[in-house]
Amino acid sequence: MKSLWSDQDAARHPSPLALRAYTSRLLGADRTLVLHGGGNTSVKLRERNVLGDEDDVLFVKGSGWDLATIEAAGFTPLRLDYLVRLSKLARLSDPEMVNELQSQRLRASAPSPSVESILHAILPYRYVDHTHADAVLAITNTGDGRSRIEDLYGDDAVIVPYVMPGFDLAKLCAAEFPRQRNARTAGMILMGHGVFSFADSARESYERMIALVDRAERYLKRSKAWSLPRPRPRTAAALLRVDIARLRREISRHAGSAMILQTRQSAAALAFCRRDDVATLATQGPATPDHSIRTKRIAMIGRDVEAYAREYRRYFGRHAKSSAAEKIMLDPAPRVVLDAELGLCAAGRSAKDAAIALEIYEHTIDVILRSSALGGYRALSARDVFDVEYWDLEQAKLALAGRPPELAGEVALVTGAASGIGRACVSALLARGAAVVGLDLKDSVTQLEQRPDFHGVVCDVTSAAAVEDALEQAVRRFGGLDVLILNAGIFPAGTPLAEADLNAWRALMALNVDANVALLKLAHPLLQAAPAGGRVVVVGSKNVAAPGVGAAAYSASKAALTQLARVAALEWGKDAIRVNVVHPDAVFDTGLWTEQVLRARAASYGLSVDQYKTRNLLHAEISSRDVATLVCTLCGPAFSRTTGAQVPIDGGNDRVI
Ligand code: ZN
Repeated sequence: MKSLWSDQDAARHPSPLALRAYTSRLLGADRTLVLHGGGNTSVKLRERNVLGDEDDVLFVKGSGWDLATIEAAGFTPLRLDYLVRLSKLARLSDPEMVNELQSQRLRASAPSPSVESILHAILPYRYVDHTHADAVLAITNTGDGRSRIEDLYGDDAVIVPYVMPGFDLAKLCAAEFPRQRNARTAGMILMGHGVFSFADSARESYERMIALVDRAERYLKRSKAWSLPRPRPRTAAALLRVDIARLRREISRHAGSAMILQTRQSAAALAFCRRDDVATLATQGPATPDHSIRTKRIAMIGRDVEAYAREYRRYFGRHAKSSAAEKIMLDPAPRVVLDAELGLCAAGRSAKDAAIALEIYEHTIDVILRSSALGGYRALSARDVFDVEYWDLEQAKLALAGRPPELAGEVALVTGAASGIGRACVSALLARGAAVVGLDLKDSVTQLEQRPDFHGVVCDVTSAAAVEDALEQAVRRFGGLDVLILNAGIFPAGTPLAEADLNAWRALMALNVDANVALLKLAHPLLQAAPAGGRVVVVGSKNVAAPGVGAAAYSASKAALTQLARVAALEWGKDAIRVNVVHPDAVFDTGLWTEQVLRARAASYGLSVDQYKTRNLLHAEISSRDVATLVCTLCGPAFSRTTGAQVPIDGGNDRVI
C-alpha cells in the first residue's frame, strides 16, 4: 500500500479543515481501506465564537458523507471539552450518547456526527484517521489474532480488544490508550474492527495509516496469506432468472416488502459459494461491525429462506435484551445469500443498498480467505455478533429512514426507453423508487441515467433471443421483474390503404405486436414471482377507439396489442398480474414531432401550432410526462383492484368518448 499524498494537491488545501478533507479523500480512494460511508476522520481546531471566546472544536466526519468524496462541509463541529468529559462517565446508553453528540454541535445545520466522535475526542492529537482496512481485519479476525497483531506491531500500536462501537468502546480506548501509549505509538488497532492513526499534521496521520496497513499487507504476504485463489471463469452460465426471481420473492416475503436482489456469478464468488466449509466461514459474523447493517450478521447458504428466517427468529427471541429494543422488530430476511449456482446474492431495500451489500461482501470474502490461509477465520463470538445486529444506534437510524417511496424495492422494465414516453416512464419510475431496466435499439439507452438503480440494455425487441438476454441481465442485476411497460413501437408516415406496402405492414406488426407477444410470454414466470403481484402497462393509442385516415397499419397494430393485453388480463388474473392499457393522443414532445412537422400538420388543418397541440375537449397539451404519471399510477395502489382497463390520456376526444 502506497501513500497517495501529493504536495501539489495538498497546497491547494491551505486551511487545516480543507487539508483534513483532502487526506480523508485519499483514504476514501482505496476501497480496501473504507467502503460506502465507512471509516471516519477528524481534526481538532481552536475557533472564536460570536461572544469572542475561543473554543476547542472537534470537526468529525458527519453521517451521510463518504470519505471518498467528503468536503469541509461534511465535518461536524462539536465542543471538544464536553466530549472528553462525557468519556469519563461510568456509563451512557447509546441513545443518550447520540443525543449528547447532537446537542453539542456548534452548527445547527451540520450533519449528525459519527458515533465514534468521543473516540476521536479522547485521542490527544490534532488529526485522527480511522479505517476498517481489509488487511488488518484479515489478521485480527483469526483465532490467535491478538498475538499476531502484537508480534506485528510491537510497541508501535495500542491494541484494544473487541467491544461494540459506541460509548463502551470509547471508554475502553480512553482507559487503554494512556496505559499502553509510549514514545513510538503511531496507531491503535481495534480487534475485529479496524485501525486508528493520529498525528499533529494531516500528512503524518494519513501516512501513518498507510504504513500500518502496509505492514499488515506485508505480513500477509510473508505468511502466504495474501494472494487470493483466482479460479478460472466458467463457460456458458445456465439461465438463472426464474430461480433468482423466486428466491427474491421469498426474501421479500420475509422482509415484509419488495427487495432488490443483486447477484454475481463471478468465478471468485462461485468458488467461494462452492467451498465445502462455506457454511462455517460465512456464519461467524461480519468482518467489522460497520458492515453488519448492510450484510446482516450471518449469510444464508442455499435458498431455504424459510429455514433462515426461523433460525433468525429463534436467535432473536433468545438474545433480545430490552423490551424497548424488542419493539423494533428486525426483519428475519437475509441480506447476503451464497448459493452454489446463483453465486453471491445481496438483498437491499433499494438497488443502492443491494449494490453496497454486494461490494461489502466481496471484500468480506477476501478477508475470510486471507484469515483462513493464516489459520482460520474467526470474527466475533455469537453474542457479539448478535449485539452488532441489534445495535440500538443502527436500529435508531433505520427507524429514522422514514416512509419508503411507492415503488421502493420493485423492478420495472421499459421498452423504447431512450426517448419520448419511454424515457419519461424511466424517470417517473425511478422517482417513485423502482429500479429500472431500459431497453432500446439506440446505444444512448446505456447512458440515459448514471445511477445504481438504472440499467440500460441495447436490444432489438423483435429478436426473442435479444429479449431473453435482456431479461436475464435485468434479473441478475435487480432480482426479478414486477412492472413491465410495453412502449416500444413505430408510427409510420401516413399511407392510404390503397397504396399499402405489405413489407412495411409486416415490419410494423413485428415490432408493434409480435415483439410484445414474445416479451409477455418470456416475462410471465418473472411477473408471477413478483412479491406484490406483477403489473403490465401497455402503451396503446387513441387510434384504437378512433382510427385515423392513412394510419391503417398503426391503428390495426395498436388494436391488436390492446386485444392482446385484454386476453393477458383474463389469463393472468389468477397469477395476481394486472394488465392495463393507456391510450395517449397528441403527445408532441417526442422525437417524432419536430417543429417543422408540427407546423406542416397544423397548417394542413388551418390551425396555429398551439391550436393544433391543444385541439381536445380540455384544450390541454399532453406531455410524455403526463403519460408516464398515468402509467406509474396504474402500477400503484390506486389501481390495485383494476385489471383489463383502458384509460385514455388525450385531453378528451369526442370520438373516443
Ligand atoms: Zn469503526
